[in-house]
Amino acid sequence: MAEVHNWQLGRGMSYPYEAAYPKRQFAFVFNINRCIACQTCTMACKSTWTFSKGQEHMWWANVETKPYGGYPQSWDIKTLRLLEEADPDGQQWRGDADGRSAPYGQFGGKSIFEAQLPEKAAESQRVLGYLPTDEEWNSPNIWEDNAVGPKGKRDALHPTGVELPTHDTWFFYLARICNHCSYPACLAACPRKAIYKRPEDGVVLIDQKQCRGYRKCVEACPYKKSMYRGNVRVSEKCIACYPRLEGKDPERPGEPMETRCMAACIGQLRMQGLVEIEADGTWKEDRYNPLYYLVHVAKVALPLYPQFGTQPNGYYIPPRWAPRPYLRQMFGPGVDDAIERYIHPDRELLGVLQLFRRDNRIIYRYALEDGEEIYRTTYRGKQHVVYDDTVIALGRDGKELFRTTVEEPFHVRSDRHANSI
Ligand code: SF4
Ligand code: SF4
Repeated sequence: MAEVHNWQLGRGMSYPYEAAYPKRQFAFVFNINRCIACQTCTMACKSTWTFSKGQEHMWWANVETKPYGGYPQSWDIKTLRLLEEADPDGQQWRGDADGRSAPYGQFGGKSIFEAQLPEKAAESQRVLGYLPTDEEWNSPNIWEDNAVGPKGKRDALHPTGVELPTHDTWFFYLARICNHCSYPACLAACPRKAIYKRPEDGVVLIDQKQCRGYRKCVEACPYKKSMYRGNVRVSEKCIACYPRLEGKDPERPGEPMETRCMAACIGQLRMQGLVEIEADGTWKEDRYNPLYYLVHVAKVALPLYPQFGTQPNGYYIPPRWAPRPYLRQMFGPGVDDAIERYIHPDRELLGVLQLFRRDNRIIYRYALEDGEEIYRTTYRGKQHVVYDDTVIALGRDGKELFRTTVEEPFHVRSDRHANSI
């Protein structure tokens, strides 16, 4: 085992391999507050990559209803339980935030790499995990739209309705893809060394020729995003639409584009980019990269189950209406501040939130231009002044990709097109 620095845990961590960081890392932010579970992202992925025979159960991109839904069923509860059993009462956060190397304080418990028992490691199970049953893989939409009702009951409505700051009857949609983790559990567990992380963009791939279908990656990935395909006897996973990242999509030759699931998002909640990485694995300061801003400056976007220890590169703006203890378990101790900032966005955050889904190309930087005051109100005890600022998205070479305003542009279709689609 090597010692690596896991900045999401705010401490060093044991990992089976020496650290090797990419120059840039594939990363994304999903704003849960906006997801409507239309599953357009899911189908965009499926119709692009996993439509062949034997891939019927392969949902590299999926959207599940929390807290009851999950694909495979109960994937997160089962891993949390394994960690709890391995380190009873240890799974706690402590200490204060400390810059980019410990923004959420320190995680005192064990990660999936540290909780594994030495005797299991000898049995070639290097990472704490489990293999889902066939039944758990069967129903991608299990318990969709089932809410938590009175006394924690499933699918019963609270008679008093809903009121913020948290709803009595609640659920939310969690959109998921592979997190292209900095310390991938799938890679750590593979006895064939068939899984690798690309140095240019941190995308994690399975070499189909090397894979022998032992399913160690399926067992180890705490997010269950490596999937076994029985008819060809190898594992497959999200490839981050790497031809698009490389600028090979004929739609925009030579320009790095976001993945298909991002580009298709109806709710306009997905943003994906490539962040620069320091020699120690932390994010290089890049103040006007929108992902850097959302994760490290505004701190509204948080990693999914950082306590697992893989340092996932997917970040979520938590849903403001869900109970905080549930969200803290899922996104760590930054939840309360993230929701507070999202509810009361400052001028810059409001501008950056307009960048989501205005274009399919990867945004490397943004710039803001001041606009007129357009609205003034008091909300939850705080005064809000909204300005119609312009936010400008810049591409890899610093050229402008597009510009948009805080007040959404309003288009009226001509009579000729009024009822056409
Ligand atoms: S989410 Fe799972 S499959 Fe994806 S890189 Fe991380 S450990 Fe591997
Ligand atoms: S396309 Fe967007 S809004 Fe629709 S389910 Fe996917 S993430 Fe949610």
